[in-house]
Amino acid sequence: MDMTTGENLASESGTRSFRPQPHSLDSVLHQLHSKYQFLQSGNLATYIPELAKMDPNWFSICVMTTDGKLFEVGDSRQLFTIQSISKVFVHGLALEDHGRDRVLSKVGVEPTGDAFNAIILDEQSKRPYNPMVNAGAIATTSLIKGKGATERLNRLLEMFERYIGHETFIDMPTFMSERTTGHRNRAMAHLMLNFGMIDEKIDEALDLYFQQCSLMVNCCDLATMAATLANRGQNPLTGTQAVPACYVRDMLSVMYACGMYNYSGEWAYRVGLPAKSGVSGGVIVVVPGRMGIGIFSPPLDERSNSVRGVKVCEDLSQLLGLHLFNCAETEG
Ligand code: GLU
Repeated sequence: MDMTTGENLASESGTRSFRPQPHSLDSVLHQLHSKYQFLQSGNLATYIPELAKMDPNWFSICVMTTDGKLFEVGDSRQLFTIQSISKVFVHGLALEDHGRDRVLSKVGVEPTGDAFNAIILDEQSKRPYNPMVNAGAIATTSLIKGKGATERLNRLLEMFERYIGHETFIDMPTFMSERTTGHRNRAMAHLMLNFGMIDEKIDEALDLYFQQCSLMVNCCDLATMAATLANRGQNPLTGTQAVPACYVRDMLSVMYACGMYNYSGEWAYRVGLPAKSGVSGGVIVVVPGRMGIGIFSPPLDERSNSVRGVKVCEDLSQLLGLHLFNCAETEG
């Protein structure tokens, strides 16, 4: 198959709703992995040692279909910290805990065009712009219910485990480093406290936020989490409802508009799918009703998105005709 045009796939598909056959999806993933494996651009995140010491050659692509078939290539079982991808799922739990209106009163849904760690709030409402930037994520995390820090952390871990389908844990060195260096995040929390957007338990909220960022996952886990969202909130492997189906729409809408840092508009234009990336090099992409995609490759571009991750997704979207607004038979 010609990987630059995807010709076989396009003719094989015939229509925009092409459902890849297992063997062809597997070979597409292997070809994309070979195509980008030796791409040497981008830089590791260096603000904490745990991220700076990742291997820039780690690279994996995983897809899980909504009927639970898993396709994996590369370093798909390598563990890494989930970082900002956690924000999607904590947003879901906040919605479950409080409902749409209350969450919306504390955190907006507007893309910013600014860096994810910008210290800004909406001028009028004093809300952080959206749950995918740090300020919004800290506000979202502060909404998680629980009697104390331990109960809140346990609820968060149980929530992640519903999506992942097995037990997981927090990387203590990453958590401690995030906590020691997180001065900007602390400044945002104080700013939001000043405007009454979060309550006084700032340190507890920040610790929980640093802990959620330090959750260990592998690329297959990312695909499973994305597939759960693609499957109306039901984990395709375990059958567990990870989040009420009614909130999946909210989660995906925010991912679509705000998930890829200040590349979100161009991502929506080029790839056309809800997604979220994180500074450890992970990306999740949701193809509603069909599949979840996970990619892991640590070197980041200047907007903090995984370089290989973006390239693979642009190719996959085009080759498989995944853009949500595709209306031509085959895409140019
Ligand atoms: N722990 C990081 C922070 O709060 C998350 C950054 C990210 O993945 O965008 O700065």
